[in-house]
Amino acid sequence: MLKTSENTLDPSDWRAFRVQGHQMLDDMLDYLEHLRGQPVWQPMPQAVRDSFRQTLDNAPADLAEAHADFMKTILPYAVGNTHPGFMGWVHGGGTPVGMLAEMLAAGLNANLGGRDQAPVELERQLVQWIRTLFAFPETAGGLLVSGTSMANLISVLIARTALLGPAVRQTGIAASKLRLVAYTSTSAHISIAQAMDLAGIGSDALRMIPVNEHHQMDVAALAVAIATDKAAGLTPFFIAATVGTADVGAIDPLAAIAELAGREKLWFHVDGAYGALAVLATDIAPRLQGIERADSIAFDFHKWGQVPYDAGFILVRDSVYQLDTFASPAAYLRRETRGLAAGSPWPCDLGPELSRGFRALKIWFTIKVYGPEKLGQIISNTCTLAQYLKQRVESTPQLELLAPVALNIVCFRYRSEDANRINAKIVIALQESGIAAPSTTTLQGKLAIRAAIVNHRTTASDIDALIEATLAFGKIAENNNLTTQAQGK
Ligand SMILES: *Cc1c(COP(=O)(O)O)cnc(C)c1O
Repeated sequence: MLKTSENTLDPSDWRAFRVQGHQMLDDMLDYLEHLRGQPVWQPMPQAVRDSFRQTLDNAPADLAEAHADFMKTILPYAVGNTHPGFMGWVHGGGTPVGMLAEMLAAGLNANLGGRDQAPVELERQLVQWIRTLFAFPETAGGLLVSGTSMANLISVLIARTALLGPAVRQTGIAASKLRLVAYTSTSAHISIAQAMDLAGIGSDALRMIPVNEHHQMDVAALAVAIATDKAAGLTPFFIAATVGTADVGAIDPLAAIAELAGREKLWFHVDGAYGALAVLATDIAPRLQGIERADSIAFDFHKWGQVPYDAGFILVRDSVYQLDTFASPAAYLRRETRGLAAGSPWPCDLGPELSRGFRALKIWFTIKVYGPEKLGQIISNTCTLAQYLKQRVESTPQLELLAPVALNIVCFRYRSEDANRINAKIVIALQESGIAAPSTTTLQGKLAIRAAIVNHRTTASDIDALIEATLAFGKIAENNNLTTQAQGK
């Protein structure tokens, strides 16, 4: 049991606590330094799973004992996104710098809802950096949030207020008698539909516009859908384009969508969850042209930005609409010009949360220590690796590519008569082997092995290992399939 000084939770012996703290830091640095020697992921033994089914007991443990439990039952059985062989989903790898920044933030225990404090100023500094990064005007504002799902929801709410006025917060959408409709592509992330649902507009009011052969939103079809809805007496109000679709990493034609949104006076939102930060990569940034015309951009620092979870952002061209949507005038007009209650508006006036952690610190440390240029190179590098994987797939007769490789996501499969079954088996075998962890997606009915290269630690050797293991497991799965078929006869 941790010995505490009387009536507090602080240790009575700070020296002993310090030794234990240093041990914990060392263990975590060892973990990060030697990741490559460990499996990407490994199934959790039943005994470990059972260790999480204990009743709450009253006997406090020693800190060292709790940490030993962490090392034994938690650390080895995480998803594995810190590992260079993780390619399953668009998860960032995290960094040692981000980890240390999290520790500092936790020590400070800052609450960034508001008040006059340096942590809030630091978040404002980030907002300013991000605003310039996307060439947004000075009227722009933003807020750190948990992730892009939350940022997409916030953008739908703001677009609703921009259209109907702040009174909609009291009267609700129904009072307007307008039937709002929104647009995104069939490749959009589910969080756009969820945002429509949570905003009370309903996901039925989201039109899923088809995509072209590059998996990009078909802008001509979008124009037709808008015209059809208007003719039917509905009120189009919101378009969500995607930069980096979750399935294949496609970039919607932003400039053409911006043009159309401008003409139709619709809110132009960009879901750039992982892709928007490609503005940092000099070779990819030109392909994001048009993003600077968005009314709002949602993106994550915890994906391509490699900042530890969670770290999402919503950038809004005209922050007045953001205040109109979330600020409670009664509260913020009463604020002081001096003392702790100064510095209005506060972050809590820009989103639905009052208590907020110090996410800004790990982002600031990441940008400051690595520099935007290096972060951009990391992003470019993952795309170069994706092209390498694409080439390896194309030059291997047993494999075939299933989608264009626009950014860092490669969808391919092992050729087989029974391809969907065989490839599902290959992916499970890859994951359970600990060699590489891709995921699956279905493209035109074909089950694809999906490798999303996001982690800054991934190298060409990890790509080679993925290819070789895929071929080996493909052969085994094919043989087992034949045996099973033979036995079935
Ligand atoms: C990951 C992702 C999201 C969701 O972001 P979270 O940070 O997980 O909430 C939304 N859209 C796209 C395109 C994504 O890749």
